[in-house]
Amino acid sequence: MDKQVLVVGWDGATESHLAEYDLEWYGGLDHGGVLLPEPFWQSREIDSGSAWTTLTTGLSTREHGVAMLSGLIEDERRFDLFSSVDRLIPRNLFGRPARIWARRQVLGRQPTNDDIPYKRVWHYVPDSLAFAVPLTYPPKETDGVTVSGFPSPEVSVQPESLEAWVRERYDGEPSKFDDAGEIREGYVEDLFRTHEAERDLVLELVDREEFRLHFVVFTLLDRLLHVTDDEAVIERAYRTMDETTARLADAIDPDDVLVVSDHGMKHDPRGKWVHVHDETTGIWAGTRPWGVETHLDVTPALVEYFGRYMGDPTYTAPETDAEREQMTSQLRDLGYL
Ligand SMILES: [Zn+2]
Repeated sequence: MDKQVLVVGWDGATESHLAEYDLEWYGGLDHGGVLLPEPFWQSREIDSGSAWTTLTTGLSTREHGVAMLSGLIEDERRFDLFSSVDRLIPRNLFGRPARIWARRQVLGRQPTNDDIPYKRVWHYVPDSLAFAVPLTYPPKETDGVTVSGFPSPEVSVQPESLEAWVRERYDGEPSKFDDAGEIREGYVEDLFRTHEAERDLVLELVDREEFRLHFVVFTLLDRLLHVTDDEAVIERAYRTMDETTARLADAIDPDDVLVVSDHGMKHDPRGKWVHVHDETTGIWAGTRPWGVETHLDVTPALVEYFGRYMGDPTYTAPETDAEREQMTSQLRDLGYL
């Protein structure tokens, strides 16, 4: 096997938190900085669905069409008109996410991976592992392995022959609210438990098969910061992410590593959220100067590293019967709708 790379998505990892916690493994990376979204989102709150789609396709939001986890750009004119005035709408209007709500009104249906007819970075690089990357349900075929990320009605795997084996070990993100609409007691501990299951599954996957590119996303920080401002818990989550990444790097022993976040988080209690997304404080860090400044740069940088060419970005896969209703209820559960 030629070169191997480990990419770890620290969803929601924030520049100021990382400076504060001085993490052992992360702190040993020689290169890094702020990673901004594409220009359109640099002054707008980006969500994880749009961000990870750009990060893994190298295409802009206008090209891939995923403006939010909850909505596709179906009417470009309406979206452009709205976007010419959207920044006049307060982000936080009496504790409500007014601008996000208004944007939702000009968008079309909730996207699934079927609505993104483009190659991801793991289609350009053979023998790749894509693990829990947001908006990869239903997963599309590669010659490697894909485990679907949030939102997924149930964890789905390509190749399908691995699906039962994966489901025995991991059944996706925990639900957040109880029947009364309150955050479930035990949710925070479940987030840590889920993270451990994800970590152990990746360790087992890389033990049974060699991959060139490993693209693994953990949503622990994002989910946790949405619901808490408890300093001790937040620090524990960052240390957990650091230890997990160190363990993956030890197990894979890659030639190079890249850590990326899709956005930072800032404290601004609003609606069902304690921290909200901050598009200006996402990060990247790595073992080499990856030359990435925005989300648009990540896929081209990885493809080039492996000596491949992007060429035609389209990917046509047969339409599946993705279970949209269950995906919608997962978004509602996390407060996205
Ligand atoms: Zn995110």
